[in-house]
Amino acid sequence: MARHKKIIERVSEIYKWIEAQQLANKIIAGQCSACGKCCDFERYDHRLYVTTPEMIYFVEKIGGANIKQMATAKCCYQVEGKCSVYAYRFSGCRIFCCKSEAGFQSELTEAAIKKFKALCDELQIPYRYVELPVALKISVTAENAE
Ligand code: SF4
Ligand code: SF4
Repeated sequence: MARHKKIIERVSEIYKWIEAQQLANKIIAGQCSACGKCCDFERYDHRLYVTTPEMIYFVEKIGGANIKQMATAKCCYQVEGKCSVYAYRFSGCRIFCCKSEAGFQSELTEAAIKKFKALCDELQIPYRYVELPVALKISVTAENAE
């Protein structure tokens, strides 16, 4: 249980760190108009990859019973064009912005992944970096196994 609590705290810290990097580089939330188009992965030709600690954090925050499965290529947490889990969204959702510099986003993604991987090594969690539909499937299997 102590390990679980630590994971939640550390993922939250990494998300805050991501935000601090964006602010330091003048990447501000206002650049995204929250149109929701990039959450329709196939149509937007976009992919969202999620690490294991992020999924553990997500399940903790929204509750295992609220884990959905992707019925279409649009993120199953987009409701009426808006993100229904905005406070708990994944690092990929936090970093991607169609209106900001791709190079910065790619460096920030790499650095964030390193942090999630280091967290897995430190707390002995299996490291995975998989597309959202796969991550959701794995998390349901893990919930049922508990
Ligand atoms: S979690 Fe939210 S921001 Fe991320 S892809 Fe889904 S709807 Fe979009
Ligand atoms: S990043 Fe771009 S496509 Fe995605 S919600 Fe924001 S404005 Fe829309």
